[in-house]
Amino acid sequence: MTTEQLRLDVGSEGLRARALVRAPGGVHSNVRLRGPHPFIRSAKGAWLFGVDGRDYVDYLLGQGPNFLGHAPDAVVQAVSAACEGGLLYGGQHELEVQAAELVCEVAGWPEMVRFSTSGTEAVQAALRVARAATGRTEIVRFQGHYHGWVDNILVGERGGDWGVASDGQVADNLRPCHILPWNDAELLTAQFEQYGSRLAAVIMEPIMINTGVIEPKPGYLETVRELCNRYGVVLIFDEVISGFRVGLGGAAQRYGVTPDLATYGKAFAGGYPVAALVGRSDLMSQLSTGAVNHSGTFNASVMAMAAVTATLTTLRDRPPYASVEEHGLALMAGLRDIAAKHDVQLRVAGLPAAFHMSFGDADVTDYRSLQKLDLARYERLAAALVDNGIWLAGRGIWYVSGAHGPRELDVALTRFDKTLGEWA
Ligand code: PLP
Repeated sequence: MTTEQLRLDVGSEGLRARALVRAPGGVHSNVRLRGPHPFIRSAKGAWLFGVDGRDYVDYLLGQGPNFLGHAPDAVVQAVSAACEGGLLYGGQHELEVQAAELVCEVAGWPEMVRFSTSGTEAVQAALRVARAATGRTEIVRFQGHYHGWVDNILVGERGGDWGVASDGQVADNLRPCHILPWNDAELLTAQFEQYGSRLAAVIMEPIMINTGVIEPKPGYLETVRELCNRYGVVLIFDEVISGFRVGLGGAAQRYGVTPDLATYGKAFAGGYPVAALVGRSDLMSQLSTGAVNHSGTFNASVMAMAAVTATLTTLRDRPPYASVEEHGLALMAGLRDIAAKHDVQLRVAGLPAAFHMSFGDADVTDYRSLQKLDLARYERLAAALVDNGIWLAGRGIWYVSGAHGPRELDVALTRFDKTLGEWA
């Protein structure tokens, strides 16, 4: 085999050519179609190591889950040890009891838990429980909030209208769904007055992280809570990203508003594929008779439960939140300073644990106002940043982990400076 053939076989270019033959778009999740292209060989802490011999300081963190950094020792060891005893029993085991107890203890407010394998599934379980509890079908959801990729919840804006986001998606499945602008208490109140008594649930990202990392306006979540109480509607916080990332109790604790149900994923399992539906026991108990179906062959697998248990124990006993905040704030400030030096109008906004970067300036409170920023230009910058060794996707979100420290800050700012210098 020639050197050239070998390079093509092992390098990103060769792998991508092979991937394109066997996987549509060369990827296994459409989110990655617009993401970074180099192939990764391994990861540790805040770093990714590519097959081409490059390293990347990682602020994508697998789209959020690696909140303790890649391959955290405590989690990897706990999972490896647990798996020695088998991976999947088709029966109950000790670790799932411990994991469910820890979720309730650490998050603070939930009374019961059901584990799933993905956030998409946990959201489906939440909607089903809410519909069963209320005997109603309609739901309210918000523009720009992401709750998974399946027919009854995936929405997008196409040609100015909100509806199905994918070819092949059945529009009828969205029909009992009102898609509203978020963060507008007046509008929501008016909508509830029209059809509040027909609603089963309101579902939202309590911080709209997926689209712009936008916080709720002061009082907004309280209004939503009050409307749901008044009209007997189940309030679902989709905390698949915010849960355990913005604090042990997620957004519910941060803003002091308790939902009826919530979904968790990502940060609570150190990178392992697992999610959870949590909530009040009177609602969750509907799942206990089988009248409301929630199933899954791989739910509460040994691997997943060991990962949740080890991650939550670490988060509880050695919380990374202070160091995440310190790193995030220093990074946000450093990025702004570098942009000012290069005379670039860069917008860095959000929380230290997850912030958003774009070009332009606008008062951003929802999906619509976010569109006033130059999001396409940022997407091009993100590609250049990947080329220069900062791992990011194009949607503007930067995630910070407990593994990011002074060295990563220094490298990230140096590489950012170089990129803007070449680019601005
Ligand atoms: N809910 C939110 C808020 C998410 O961000 C995501 C995924 O990014 C999901 C649900 C779906 O989770 P999964 O990709 O694990 O199915």
